[in-house]
Amino acid sequence: MNNNTFKEINESFTIKEAIDEAKRCLNCKNPSCKKGCPIENDIPGFIHQLSMGNMGDAMAIINEKSNLPAICGRVCPHEKQCQGHCVLYAKGKGIQIGKLERFVADFDTDMNLIRERLPQKTRGKVAVIGSGPAGLTVAGDLARQGFNVTIFEGQSEPGGVLMYGIPEYRLPKEVVNKEIKKIEALGVNFVLNCLVGKQITIDQMFEQGYDAIFIGTGTALPKALDVPGSKLRGIVQSSYLLHMASIYNQNIVPRDMVPLEEGEKVGIIGCGNVAMDAARTAVRMGAGSVSVIYHKTEADMPAIQSEYQEAVKEGVQFLWQTSTLEFLGNEEGKVRAIRATTPDGEKEIPFDRIFLAIGSRPANRIVSTTTGIDVDETGYVIVKERPYGMTTRKGVFAGGDVVHRPHTVVLAMKAAKQVAAGIAQYVDAVKLLEA
Ligand code: SF4
Repeated sequence: MNNNTFKEINESFTIKEAIDEAKRCLNCKNPSCKKGCPIENDIPGFIHQLSMGNMGDAMAIINEKSNLPAICGRVCPHEKQCQGHCVLYAKGKGIQIGKLERFVADFDTDMNLIRERLPQKTRGKVAVIGSGPAGLTVAGDLARQGFNVTIFEGQSEPGGVLMYGIPEYRLPKEVVNKEIKKIEALGVNFVLNCLVGKQITIDQMFEQGYDAIFIGTGTALPKALDVPGSKLRGIVQSSYLLHMASIYNQNIVPRDMVPLEEGEKVGIIGCGNVAMDAARTAVRMGAGSVSVIYHKTEADMPAIQSEYQEAVKEGVQFLWQTSTLEFLGNEEGKVRAIRATTPDGEKEIPFDRIFLAIGSRPANRIVSTTTGIDVDETGYVIVKERPYGMTTRKGVFAGGDVVHRPHTVVLAMKAAKQVAAGIAQYVDAVKLLEA
């Protein structure tokens, strides 16, 4: 096993390929691709600039809507969004919009093209908790609009799910680091290794003079499967596998810290995108076999089609309509099998290792260490329409998965952009009243 197996799969365009692809775009008057993009990127606009070789202008157009294009260009479900809506898609000749976006963003980073003129940071002071897609988007948008923004991150590296959740072969950490450097260059400050709710509370942040606080902490608590035997050794959360494999790939921990031994027979319970990431990571870590266990049918699977197909290509097996009733252990207390209902009746299916990928929910560390922030019965933060994204506590906002439940990167970004606008309106109004 070596780290090369985690190398990015989806190769980039060369300049010639990118320009040739861009030239195929019809620059439609009423572009359906844009309607398919959750953040309504001006797709024909940037593709047109790219087709003429104007990389800087192409990037400036993308940046009007996105702070993370090198990431979106890689991990967005393009076939469901922009590309799937392109007029040429039905003929099987859809423009490869994701790869073009990624090309422009990578070119910009490599060539250091964009040097934005930034406003003075005089509009107010905003704290952003969490540095995943939502936090980075809010921070980037507000910094561009003249706010002094500080991101508080509990881990030693910023990026949240981008850094520790999405595997290297889909999203190289180098790309994440470079996108974060660009956000930093907008004047955003980062405080790392700082768990809000533990090292500092929301109340203390207000005492430090923040005008508004944004909670973008996502869904950090993975759900457990409540069946007999669930405490056996060898039953691990997928998010833990992905985190450990990620830091192993960055040479931060040794191989034996990754909870999977070579040759093991692996079962993944759940069939969403995290399950696909865990399955494909298990393949790369040298599992003997990998099976995804799902209680519904293939048609009900929540994973993105392309991820599912890649998993199939890599040899992952799928056990449809299979519900785990019990985990069975050996004499050492380690899992050895599941007992499950299957289309052929009840069966014992042997596994050496089980990874759970049945969803996650928000942690309550922040809301339990302050007052006035209401959550629903499952822990999701309740927010208002006006100002957009404000919680039940004045000046505290929330967005992304911690409000809307786990979604894709771009949907977290979309929600975060609206909340950034809500924060700007709120802070401006408060300052006006104070004046
Ligand atoms: Fe270009 Fe397709 Fe969008 Fe038309 S729909 S502007 S062809 S990418």
